[in-house]
Amino acid sequence: MKFEFEYEVYDSIIELAAADQELVNKAFNATWLSYSPYSKLKVGACAMTNMGHTIIGSNQENGSYSVTICAERVLLSTLSTQYPDEYITTLAITYLDLNDNSNHPITPCGVCRQAMLEHEIKNECSIRIILASQNGQIYIIEKGRDLLPLPFSI
Ligand SMILES: [Zn+2]
Repeated sequence: MKFEFEYEVYDSIIELAAADQELVNKAFNATWLSYSPYSKLKVGACAMTNMGHTIIGSNQENGSYSVTICAERVLLSTLSTQYPDEYITTLAITYLDLNDNSNHPITPCGVCRQAMLEHEIKNECSIRIILASQNGQIYIIEKGRDLLPLPFSI
């Protein structure tokens, strides 16, 4: 068996479609809502729903580290409470690293990949994911499930 998937790579935000640029810019703005005094890594996410609503999320850290919630799961929880009947079509994720350059895309952690997969399964949808760095490349992945082969399921 072999697992592989394709993704798109862009060198700059200006190469993206206007709607994607807008989503990435909203995700950039959401980084400033991050509470990240420990890692200094401010992650922002912005999703477009099937009904045209945008939802944002940012990472929320805690001195008890395991209490920390990633931007993606903050966003998913917000969606479930604000627009419970809608699903995500596109999700932009970006970050601002106060300790380093923000010059490469970061990818969702394993817990968030599992959470996004559950959203896809529950809603029978595919989340198109835009991973955008501030000063470098941007990746576009067509399906969240591509990021989690052989997922946990019951
Ligand atoms: Zn995560």
